[in-house]
Amino acid sequence: MDVKKKDIRALTKDQLRDFFVSQGDKAFRGNQVYEWLWQKSAHSFEDMTNISLQTRQMLTDNFVINHIKVDQMQRSSDGTIKNAVRLHDDLIVESVLIPTPTRTTACVSSQVGCSLDCKFCATARLKRMRNLNPDEIYDQVVAIDNESRLYHGRPLSNIVFMGMGEPLMNYNNVLKAIDKITSPEGLGMSPKRIVVSTSGVPKMIKKMADDGVKFKLAVSLHSAIDDVRTSIMPFNATFPLKDLREALGHWYAKTKNRITYEYVVWRGINDRKKDVDALVEFCKFAPSKVNLIEYNPIDDGEFQQADYKALDMYVNILEANNITVTVRRSRGKDIDAACGQLANKNKA
Ligand code: SAH
Repeated sequence: MDVKKKDIRALTKDQLRDFFVSQGDKAFRGNQVYEWLWQKSAHSFEDMTNISLQTRQMLTDNFVINHIKVDQMQRSSDGTIKNAVRLHDDLIVESVLIPTPTRTTACVSSQVGCSLDCKFCATARLKRMRNLNPDEIYDQVVAIDNESRLYHGRPLSNIVFMGMGEPLMNYNNVLKAIDKITSPEGLGMSPKRIVVSTSGVPKMIKKMADDGVKFKLAVSLHSAIDDVRTSIMPFNATFPLKDLREALGHWYAKTKNRITYEYVVWRGINDRKKDVDALVEFCKFAPSKVNLIEYNPIDDGEFQQADYKALDMYVNILEANNITVTVRRSRGKDIDAACGQLANKNKA
């Protein structure tokens, strides 16, 4: 990468318009280039065919477009696609396309690696290398949208921030990316079709609520008992359940948006009745539903999916307490694309 040249996509539309005026051109040229960059996702200035050759050269001399590159695409037998995405500094993140009969969902990454230390997650072992910038997040969505059209004959319908990283530890950039995804000048998607999944950073959940965001919130809960949660998600010692609960109450009061709790049931960890009872109590705090997700093994057996009896107990007790619960099957396991398996395995 040429260090002297600026990343043109770091400029707002107004900054781009001002730049053209400073070059003695019309502000309108800024709109045209902006449209190429965002609506048409141009990878190079040469693609901008309604811009004069001379102007394209001037842009090439001054700027770069740090577009992501899909380095490797893997297709699962169940239709799931995993992209290994190369960033301008050669770091790699992964994103996933998950098709179902009624929707196509993009699962995108927000950080290279992750700063949190969930014991059951492969990404946690990579440690956090850096935050993704807004256009690197946006590009992942565009790449998946293109693949969805190509392989499934329909555009992307939903986005989940459940790839690598903790989105609320890269909040500003995630928000900017979502602004672009939902803006008519970007992809024009409804924020209601976007889910941000967090391991639960109370201060940031409150901030999101105060910022009036319109997307949905999912929390990776996995246990409603502090000791248990801290043993599998050690940062829970810093952000205990009491603080998380209070932040979620604030979220619901401000947004009136129901919260989804993601929850894996592991043998010998959270498969007792008292674990379910604690979850029921936690769910009473704010309107919510529970997604019981299948464990995707990443290690040599330290964690094991609980048996069906334990899952049935969860479903029965939650339903008896009028809490909506769904049991989710994993997708894309054969290509290491399922929850918690994203770890750049092929690039190791
Ligand atoms: N950092 C965010 C988003 C990334 S993880 C978060 O924690 O929510 C996306 C989901 O996959 C989370 O619910 C996470 O707890 C879950 N997950 C992580 N490792 C997993 C594994 N090995 N099997 C199943 N789910 C896993």
